[in-house]
Amino acid sequence: MTRTHNLGFPRIGARRELKFALEAYWQGRSSAAELNTQAALLRERHWAAQAAVDLVPVGDFSLYDQVLDMSFTLGHLPQRFQGFDGPELDNYFRVARGRSAPQVAGHGACCGVAAGEMTKWFDSNYHYIVPEFRAGQTFHLDASRLLQQLAEAQAQGRHAKPVLIGPLTYLALGKAKDGSERLDLLSPLLAVYAELLDTLAAHGARWVQIDEPLLATELDPGWAQAYRDAYAVLGTRRAQLLVATYFGPLRENLPLLAELPVQGVHLDAVNARDEVAPLLAALPGDRVLSLGVINGRNIWLTDLNATLDWLEPVARQLGERLWLAPSCSLLHVPVDLAQEQQLDAELRSWLAFALQKLDELALLARALREGRAAVQAELAANAAALAGRRASPRVHNPAVAQALARVDARLGQRPSPHAQRAATQAARLQLPAFPTTTIGSFPQTAEIRQARSRFKAGEVTAAAYDDAMRREIAHCVKAQETLGLDVLVHGEAERNDMVEYFGEQLVGYAFSQFGWVQSYGSRCVKPPLLFGDISRPRPITVAWSRHAQSLTERPMKGMLTGPVTMLNWSFVRDDQPRAITCRQLALALREEVLDLERAGLPIIQIDEAALREGLPLRRAQWGDYLDWAVACFRLMAGGVADATQIHTHMCYSEFSDILPAIAAMDADVITIETSRSDMALLDAFRSFRYPNQIGPGVYDIHSPNIPSQADIVTLMKRAAERVPAERLWVNPDCGLKTRQWAEVTPALQRMVAAARQLRAEL
Ligand code: GLN
Ligand code: ZN
Repeated sequence: MTRTHNLGFPRIGARRELKFALEAYWQGRSSAAELNTQAALLRERHWAAQAAVDLVPVGDFSLYDQVLDMSFTLGHLPQRFQGFDGPELDNYFRVARGRSAPQVAGHGACCGVAAGEMTKWFDSNYHYIVPEFRAGQTFHLDASRLLQQLAEAQAQGRHAKPVLIGPLTYLALGKAKDGSERLDLLSPLLAVYAELLDTLAAHGARWVQIDEPLLATELDPGWAQAYRDAYAVLGTRRAQLLVATYFGPLRENLPLLAELPVQGVHLDAVNARDEVAPLLAALPGDRVLSLGVINGRNIWLTDLNATLDWLEPVARQLGERLWLAPSCSLLHVPVDLAQEQQLDAELRSWLAFALQKLDELALLARALREGRAAVQAELAANAAALAGRRASPRVHNPAVAQALARVDARLGQRPSPHAQRAATQAARLQLPAFPTTTIGSFPQTAEIRQARSRFKAGEVTAAAYDDAMRREIAHCVKAQETLGLDVLVHGEAERNDMVEYFGEQLVGYAFSQFGWVQSYGSRCVKPPLLFGDISRPRPITVAWSRHAQSLTERPMKGMLTGPVTMLNWSFVRDDQPRAITCRQLALALREEVLDLERAGLPIIQIDEAALREGLPLRRAQWGDYLDWAVACFRLMAGGVADATQIHTHMCYSEFSDILPAIAAMDADVITIETSRSDMALLDAFRSFRYPNQIGPGVYDIHSPNIPSQADIVTLMKRAAERVPAERLWVNPDCGLKTRQWAEVTPALQRMVAAARQLRAEL
């Protein structure tokens, strides 16, 4: 009989209960006991919600991050956090957030300590705390968290399966700050894992899930052998092991996974359907094969009939050995579609959030056990919903398809090369050397947010809201003139979020009310739902930008979000390739660029904050992604005349491996985040001979610290050693929306003064 299980459940809560409990604790409004009570309540609720699956995950719940949890379980904290004499919970949050919480005097809570670094979990938008390794370090087991959660689940009558991050994935996720070889730590690490497995088995865990998504990536030399060595040790412990891979196909690692001496393996059969047969053929006859048949990364209804078509023969062949699960942890999807009262019924019928995905799983298992006839009505309803989606004119707009068919590479080609455009633009813009600008947003003050929420609640009219935003824009323009900035922005007061704002005004997008997904810690995002062909019924930003330009003689930048970022920060449709969806976005937004140009905006910035985030897991596929991503950017930007200057902005600091693609975007100016890297990242731009203009961020907007003029001058001089001074701009790292005017004003004053000093020294 086919068994079902789940790899992980969203921990944040259907109403983000965990977020609010955490923030209350951090702000000193609640106690550790209250936080722990809320956490236990959520776990109980989540296990109850999973009651229909045969094995529920335990230890997937985390107060902050599952990788950080694993570090605590392995007794492995960065040195600077060791020897903390306060409560362990506070040390946990110190690693996560860089200081103790709550901020009470006593046990060393005062002193600043740098948080663990944070980075993206594989190709998802979830961020984990990076383990820090050094040569010769030791590990020691602390199983308390897992044992407590296991006991809770057992007390609630659940069949519990503890979830661990596997030793190789754990090592690969971390960084050796001293440059030492991480694999040298494998042997001491394995001793702790072995002890942990025995401990869990002794407490009644029959199965343990060990996550090794690293196996869906290209392994560095030595790592494949390390897998064999590691599982030769772990496979002999008392607990039965299910090694889980997900997020992509195994490819060259398939034989490796198949040969590991463990009791079961999990394959992401959504992303690697064609590996089911070869894995089955390679797997020894006594192994469990768990197939991830429900997509854990998107929000669409599963095609249950189509799944059964290929699954039934597999089930007949495997019998008891087949397990069914979602493709990966459900951490990456919102909790419950039933809460969504504002989505129309048709659209809702096409969607499934975590709870609905578990229903689908149960249905598939039942169809396998009892035959499709037993769930005939459900299967028919599923088929009807999918047929409705396939045929819906809301999804398919022939005009969009026709426009897309007419797209060719020439649309992405500016009339002249950058050097020539730069001369034309210089003559038009008359900017000094080291021109100063900002990335777009200015502080989103309480008044701005209040005005928007009152407008959305229907408490003020559209006209009144419009007026309020126009006043904000005027204030922002005036402030920039007073500061003496060279290229101004309107300040983005009218925008809630750089993706949602545009999505709201494009046809083909919808928005959930509670579709929150954890990004890191208590931070959640609510990705818009891109469900249909994209079109732009009317101009989006033109009136605001025209208003802003009318208020000043100085050049104003029109501010847009690029197609790749729109794509990567949304839940996008699964019925066509991402590249096509991206091209639709680019084509629609190209009209906005052309309208801004017609409205007289001499500069247009296209933000591509998330371009890097879309990189595929495997390097072999980077080229393909970058090709179409760059083509989409160029499609959006390429229609303007030479005299219109195109800027782009990216908020991260790793470019060396994608510089050819960045150069191929051919933006006249790129502004990037550099202040924390001391301009070292410009080395890559220098050795690549990046030809266009660059604005390397001169101060970190994530910190309330106000930079000094001297610091900015030093940074810019470092930049000028790497990029010719005549191609440099002076700007902050990113937008200023999260800061206060009291911070922004002095920071920009110093930035402008620094630029003047640099000009004088030229
Ligand atoms: N223009 C946007 C802003 O300033 C860019 C934000 C971003 O890149 N994350 O807020
Ligand atoms: Zn940014």
